[in-house]
Amino acid sequence: MTANLLDFDLEGLAAFCERLGEKRFRATQLFRWIHQKGASDFEQMTDLAKSLREKLGASAHVQGLKVVSRHDSADGTVKWLFDVGAGDVIETVFIPEADRGTLCISSQAGCAVGCRFCSTGHQGFSRNLTTGEIVSQLWFAEHFLRQHLGRQERVISNVVMMGMGEPLQNYSQLVPALKVMLDDHGYGLSRRRVTVSTSGVVPMIDRLAKDCPVALAVSLHAPQDALRDNLVPLNKKYPIAELLEACARYQTAAPRDFITFEYCMLDGVNDQPEHAAQLVSLMKTHAIKGLSCKFNLIPFNPFPASGLKRSDMPQVSAFAKILMDAGIVTTVRKTRGDDIDAACGQLAGDVQDRTGVDQRMAAQRQGMLGGIKVVVAKGTNV
Ligand code: SAH
Ligand code: SF4
Repeated sequence: MTANLLDFDLEGLAAFCERLGEKRFRATQLFRWIHQKGASDFEQMTDLAKSLREKLGASAHVQGLKVVSRHDSADGTVKWLFDVGAGDVIETVFIPEADRGTLCISSQAGCAVGCRFCSTGHQGFSRNLTTGEIVSQLWFAEHFLRQHLGRQERVISNVVMMGMGEPLQNYSQLVPALKVMLDDHGYGLSRRRVTVSTSGVVPMIDRLAKDCPVALAVSLHAPQDALRDNLVPLNKKYPIAELLEACARYQTAAPRDFITFEYCMLDGVNDQPEHAAQLVSLMKTHAIKGLSCKFNLIPFNPFPASGLKRSDMPQVSAFAKILMDAGIVTTVRKTRGDDIDAACGQLAGDVQDRTGVDQRMAAQRQGMLGGIKVVVAKGTNV
């Protein structure tokens, strides 16, 4: 088996080049070809000596993920399903905005945390993605979009690890992938434009602060342990006070940054004025310990098995007002791509989606077909 070079950060690629008896700086050239130009064929890499290209041809390859399908939303959001083998499918979503292009990346096939309001959680855990599988989502999307949109320059300016899976339960594969995103010879994203979202794996928050302090988003969803235990089962292991202390420690590594707290608004469950008031006092207590935060209220995206309902907009606004009146910066997340099931928590990677037919039928049932283009690329090897 030859090595897939998408599995390496620059340091790893340099070590690989050394093993081939090559100078480490060759790795920089190779890395730029792969990530900045999207090349996968060593013969294209004309500034590398022929002898090196031959060695690479014999010992390495650059292999992205297999695209199952692409779904284009009326609002410009694009969702891809990728086949990662053994019946597992993962999802990646591109969200264009006026001033940025955000890619939402998966870190696992399924998820072991099992949050009640998340369809990935309901699906259960299948396996960790490799560094190469995480990086491939960006590699593929960036170069596909450049070609598709006829752009020479960078299309993706932000990455959020908010697709399927709990990134901090796949730490060893995650960190090199983050390094590829940040590397000036790779995607050159600033660390404030790469966000790891976590349900609260406390020890790994501390490790990330040392290894790769990118922006941190924490999925809080409840102001007290009894409720959070029920919504995010990991809370039984790492309760709220411990989690917020880890967040405050994280900020000593990145002092000028905020931690973003995500809060999924569930009708009658966690969206009452008293929940907002409890959040305010919780945040005040921890502000003294150095925590500065922002809140992002996410309208719940329902799916049948959850038995939960989305809070209505007046409820969300009233909740936001209590936080804002207390001086907490609060935003309400716009739902994007819900006509293609690309919104938060709808990423189930259902194998049924492979044909695109189920999605079309679901959309038809909901009378939403207008504007959806389902592009099926079954078995395409990218
Ligand atoms: N596992 C990580 C990252 C993936 S989930 C985490 O939990 O943070 C990304 C975000 O989507 C999280 O904030 C999660 O709480 C939110 N989410 C999950 N299911 C959702 C749903 N059905 N509706 C709205 N947001 C949801
Ligand atoms: Fe896993 Fe995040 Fe979904 Fe919870 S919300 S089940 S941690 S992907």
